[in-house]
Amino acid sequence: MPSPGPLSYSSVRAYLECPLRWKYLYIDHLPEAPRGYFSFGRTIHSVLEEAVRPLVVPVARRTPSGRSQRTLEDYRPAGSGTEPVAAPGTIADTEAVMEMYRRAWVSDGYTSTEEEARYRQLGAEILGRYWETVRADPPSPVAVEEHLEASWDGVPVHGYIDRVDRTPEGGLEIVDYKTSRELSAADARESDQLGLYQVLVRENFSDPVERLTLYHLRSLTPLRSSPRAAGALDALYGRVTTVRDGIRAEEYPPTPGRQCPRCDFRKICPEFKEVPGTERDRLILLVDRFRDLRDREQKLNAELEATAGELHRAAEQLGLHRIPGTREVAIRRREETWRFDAAAVDKALAETGRTERVDGSDADAVRKLANDPALSAETRAAIASAGSRRTRWYWELER
Ligand code: SF4
Repeated sequence: MPSPGPLSYSSVRAYLECPLRWKYLYIDHLPEAPRGYFSFGRTIHSVLEEAVRPLVVPVARRTPSGRSQRTLEDYRPAGSGTEPVAAPGTIADTEAVMEMYRRAWVSDGYTSTEEEARYRQLGAEILGRYWETVRADPPSPVAVEEHLEASWDGVPVHGYIDRVDRTPEGGLEIVDYKTSRELSAADARESDQLGLYQVLVRENFSDPVERLTLYHLRSLTPLRSSPRAAGALDALYGRVTTVRDGIRAEEYPPTPGRQCPRCDFRKICPEFKEVPGTERDRLILLVDRFRDLRDREQKLNAELEATAGELHRAAEQLGLHRIPGTREVAIRRREETWRFDAAAVDKALAETGRTERVDGSDADAVRKLANDPALSAETRAAIASAGSRRTRWYWELER
């Protein structure tokens, strides 16, 4: 049985969206094309990691192995410099943050130099404004861009957490930066990402998680919510185990949806893959033949029904149940089905003092009751009148 390894939020989301895309990414390790908005997000996260790190004041951990920081080299282009911008405990000035931004810029995936320039400008505005708020009211981070792992009731999970802050009440606030255009309070309340981070921080830090926050950088808005309640975490755990079980069972069905237009694997996905040129003509003929046969099937069914109807009318007019042809005899059969109103049956029984519940869809059981001599004639009549009979006539052929 394959082991899925520790599951991250992105991995769980990718599997739930489309297991086949998950396989391409996590088993086959197929690369995805770079995209400007991902590079943009990575650049901003990288700068905030570097700028906030000097403010980190470590706190008590549950596990000694809790510290496994992602390095800035994961973000920064080679040769761009790694000099610290601020001594521990000091807040870098905005100009220093802008210098970090220049060094950290990732150019991959932009569709044109104009688009890249637009994003560059946007990033400078976002960071400049955000950093002013940080300087005016500094946070109290206890961890930045930290990789946490945990076993969640037996399921290994992990994630990189943008920031964990100390709250004024002495607990912890999980902060995830978002560079997206739109973000709502509902996004923050319902975010599975924050739910999973809550579990990771709970399992790795000693202090309680008090707040979950998606920080919308474009509008400088912290969208705060309370920690997820037990019921919400149970539901999330259910989704995580669904993914774990699907991977263990090697179930990777393609699941088309609104993610497909952005999927890099359309060319190899069976839902969108093109028929090879060498097979095209043969398969076109097969599909056309299948279509023709379907049409003929529909016509034949209509004709069959009309002929049976004409035979039924003749049989009724002439009082016949057997009509010979040249090869076989058509025999007219009768099928009777009953349906009962379960509530009316229950009511009739309740009036006799009997408390048994009868399944109204079980016509045989109800009809048995309607003939039960232990019941009064009125009750039997009430049960019988709760039913309706349907009679169907059909033809069989015999030699
Ligand atoms: S194209 Fe759609 S169905 Fe196919 S792998 Fe990608 S996401 Fe899944």
